[in-house]
Amino acid sequence: MLGSKLPADPNYGPVITQRTDYNLFKDFDREHAFMMQDAAYGNILAWFAEGVKPGVLRLDALKHFLRDLYSRLTTGKSLGSLGWALDDLLNKDVSFHTCVLLCMGIDKSNGVMTLDGDHQLSIDWPYKDSLSLYRAILESGKQFSRSLEASIFAPLPTWDLPIRNNVTVHALGGCILANDSAVGVTSADPKTFGQVFGYRDLYVADGAIVPTAVGANPTATIAALSEMVAEGIIGFAPDPGL
Ligand SMILES: Cc1cc2nc3c(=O)[nH]c(=O)nc-3n(C[C@H](O)[C@H](O)[C@H](O)COP(=O)(O)OP(=O)(O)OC[C@H]3O[C@@H](n4cnc5c(N)ncnc54)[C@H](O)[C@@H]3O)c2cc1C
Repeated sequence: MLGSKLPADPNYGPVITQRTDYNLFKDFDREHAFMMQDAAYGNILAWFAEGVKPGVLRLDALKHFLRDLYSRLTTGKSLGSLGWALDDLLNKDVSFHTCVLLCMGIDKSNGVMTLDGDHQLSIDWPYKDSLSLYRAILESGKQFSRSLEASIFAPLPTWDLPIRNNVTVHALGGCILANDSAVGVTSADPKTFGQVFGYRDLYVADGAIVPTAVGANPTATIAALSEMVAEGIIGFAPDPGL
């Protein structure tokens, strides 16, 4: 989202500090379940954003910078580190009025990973089956933009036709847990949890065993499942008293 009338101030703080729940934890709706989170990005990246603007549009930024520099020099305010200058320079400009939103939800989880002839991983991830989710996400982004009176809302360029590719940093699956080898790779039976079907004592304990999208950021779920695998191998659970 770009060009909001209200400041978005995305250059402060850690990447994710807030979330909005859309039918994931509350009022669960399988077809439209997702979370929206803010993605802050550092001043350095904001400078790159400024850098790609046509030169003439950067004049505004320079004007603000010179005015602030003059005012700080004449009022005797400490110049401090360069941080204030970067911040103020961006204050009235595209980076300060731009917001990157992260949305993650429960898609149909029917992507298929294969190795091609050169042993490169390729993914067939049909977007059409999960359109109800993607449409809900796009609508929430538009709503968010309207509430900040933004002039532009744009999904990732990969989403543009004819590419229509989604992007994830939460790759899950590959050796999914299941009740038998016809539908999965690792055992979901508590007695052999995480063990590869047909391979005794070979276990998988990471995001590969998660059988479906979990909607939210997955690290805690992966850690919990991996702990279950470890408990199965050693035969006892951690002692909370230790
Ligand atoms: C940019 C980004 C931001 C993210 N933010 C969040 C977040 O805020 N919250 C959240 O919950 N999740 C987040 N995730 C997702 C989360 O990081 C992953 O889901 C999680 O780390 C996956 O855990 P894993 O153990 O399955 O795999 P990984 O953490 O990827 O661990 C796999 C390990 O195997 C090693 N390895 C690979 N190949 C070999 C080999 N051949 N031999 C030996 N070792 C090998 C790798 O070096 C790596 O250490 C983010 C992911 C990314 C990329």
